[in-house]
Amino acid sequence: MSENKTVEKKGCGNFFTGLVLAALLAAGIFTISKEFLYQFNVEPIYKGPGVTSTKMLSDYNPFLKGTNGDSKVYILDSGKPGATFVIMGGTHPTEPAGLLAAVMFVENAVVTEGRVIVVPHSNNSGFSTCEPGLGHVPYFHIKTDKGNVRYFRYGNRGANPVDQYPDPDMYLHFPSGQNLAADEIRNLDRAHPGNPHGLLCQQVAYAFNRMCWQENADMIIDHHEAPPEKPLVNAICAHQKGIDLTSEMGMELEMDFGISERVEISPIPLHGFSHRELGDFTPAIAFLSEVPNPSQGSARGVTYEELIMDGNIDQVYANLQKHNLLKVNLVGLKMEERAGRNVAVDMSLALNYTKRTPDGVKNWYKPAQFDGSKAAGKIAEMYQGVLDKVAPNGVMDEAAAHAQEDLIGNDRPLWIMNMPTYDEIVENGIGHYLRDADATPEEIAAAKAKAEKDYEAAKKALEADDGLTVKDLEDAKKGA
Ligand SMILES: [Zn+2]
Repeated sequence: MSENKTVEKKGCGNFFTGLVLAALLAAGIFTISKEFLYQFNVEPIYKGPGVTSTKMLSDYNPFLKGTNGDSKVYILDSGKPGATFVIMGGTHPTEPAGLLAAVMFVENAVVTEGRVIVVPHSNNSGFSTCEPGLGHVPYFHIKTDKGNVRYFRYGNRGANPVDQYPDPDMYLHFPSGQNLAADEIRNLDRAHPGNPHGLLCQQVAYAFNRMCWQENADMIIDHHEAPPEKPLVNAICAHQKGIDLTSEMGMELEMDFGISERVEISPIPLHGFSHRELGDFTPAIAFLSEVPNPSQGSARGVTYEELIMDGNIDQVYANLQKHNLLKVNLVGLKMEERAGRNVAVDMSLALNYTKRTPDGVKNWYKPAQFDGSKAAGKIAEMYQGVLDKVAPNGVMDEAAAHAQEDLIGNDRPLWIMNMPTYDEIVENGIGHYLRDADATPEEIAAAKAKAEKDYEAAKKALEADDGLTVKDLEDAKKGA
């Protein structure tokens, strides 16, 4: 009898232990899945005084609608004709300086001639997950001047695997057929010029391709970061259409702010990159900028949130620095320096592009091997037949291609006001240029009035001396 009782008790204990374990497991799964799903929420980005409308990437590629690849597009339109500049942040969500530079444009810039189009989360899917095994933190925070704390996601270099699963064993790039590393198939910067019938990253890339055509983009820049131990830092990679412009920008930044920027030409046979394919397949001049990111490198020590903002604090990097094993000086390598560099590059490209007008900007950068209408014809040929069956509006619009040709020789100035200079960002910090809410009608009116005044002063100064740089124009504004 007593033996039976023991058995009964044992069974009873197992049942309750199981219940407790099941409850703990359920609580664990609940917490982890809540945490996981929370990263799918897009952090707030506030509309600054220059934002005139917003769109979605799915407005350019309808196949993205309802997917995690769809992302907000901010349009800052002066209402006056001029050039259009597309700024991509967050192609690689592990490279936050590019995202923050894009956010600073959305929340501060006022365009007084031409248009700026900003996509802060270009690879939105990648922001919804972390890099497994790399010890990254999922978020980082920046305090605004009013003391509010803004949060930003720090995601995965590629798209979220749940959005694009499984990764195949081979990745044949479309349309070149080039064999790329298989693990690059979720990398947006290997997916250009995109494929309307491809995987999510190719769909996102295709939206940028269409955007360049539909919005008559003159220039497109893709903001990136790289580990400080890698050679490709403090550099800009330009499509051959933009070599002159990039060289002028590089000299100007050295002169104005003492920051050196290496200029590289986009390798012609290497496919999938924004600087190659957007330059080849759209009329836009394509650039990619790289700044050093200490929180991304594999040589770093423990990754604290602070390391994302301040490269000085990592002991392993400090040691490598001592032995001269890094490509950049980490002393003073704060987020301000990195995001400020991106802003300075974009502003200088805009100014140098403006300096070329009205003599026909497009002609200056049109090498013999590039012909806008031929590129349009090529892409139309590739996509026609597959696309028109499912989305007639998605087919390359020949008329748009010819409209682009008509722009050659026309005035294409671009004036971006109200943006901080590199020195100002370094001095005042990023938080100084982040908003706490959307701009109110009063703020918009005041910022526009100031921008108009600054624009008149800057324009006059440039008319008097067309060799002026971004910094000269800042001084001209201050004197006005
Ligand atoms: Zn990158």
